[in-house]
Amino acid sequence: MRRRFFQICLLATGLLMTFLACGSYAASGDSSPITVVIDAGHGGFDRGGIPGQRVSEKDMTLDVARRLKSVLTASGYRVVMTRDSDVFVPLGTRCSIANSNRNAIFVSVHFNSATRGGASGIETYFYSRDSLALASAIHHYVVGGAPSGSRGVRRRGYFVLRRTNIPAVLVECGFLTNPTEAGYAQNASYRQKLAEEIAAGVRSRGSVASSFSTTRVATDETIPLQPYMDQTRVTQSKKSRSKRSARKSSRHKKKTSSKPAEMEARVASSDREG
Ligand SMILES: [Zn+2]
Repeated sequence: MRRRFFQICLLATGLLMTFLACGSYAASGDSSPITVVIDAGHGGFDRGGIPGQRVSEKDMTLDVARRLKSVLTASGYRVVMTRDSDVFVPLGTRCSIANSNRNAIFVSVHFNSATRGGASGIETYFYSRDSLALASAIHHYVVGGAPSGSRGVRRRGYFVLRRTNIPAVLVECGFLTNPTEAGYAQNASYRQKLAEEIAAGVRSRGSVASSFSTTRVATDETIPLQPYMDQTRVTQSKKSRSKRSARKSSRHKKKTSSKPAEMEARVASSDREG
């Protein structure tokens, strides 16, 4: 009888332990926010990229975003899309959508562009400190799964990163102005791969940051804040602005540097939101 009682106690303890283990997993759940707000960059009249760009960024971002949604949903995440069709959604609205979700993270999907066709690679942006782990993890996986090189994890004050109050990351999945990377992006299985790697980053956001040392991680001290550009204005005034700046630069007669890398950096940081 006593033995029986002991066995029951043992069983009960086992059940209790299991329950507690599950409970703590669900509660901390690798500090799992359960909602992922996926933001497909651009849309509608805003094609993204630079004028004259052959491959439309807005279509690529939407496709990767939809694939990412499928992968994350299958992994048990709740997913909210800032857009799920070819429509223009203002940046402020994208942030409002993100901020209306509790216990959430925000992932903005973009592709890069530059006037120099040779520019290539993956780069991942964050703004707030609590977004760094997510940025590092996503970058780690996307770079690991892509044939493109790494341009690093960078801190920049993009609108959707500054105005979101949840961990927020913007990933640039390669240059559509680079023939090789544009070729990858136009391949559906490659876009699926990108989605799976971003999802892997989301899943392991708590564990990659500390072990990932190959990426040049920007800090407050090393990277100056970038002024944010409202994409609604940028898109509409892009032509006139570039004309103005062309006139300006001819007036200043090459006072500014003409190094390709610097040109590219200016284009990348000034022309658009991601
Ligand atoms: Zn973009």
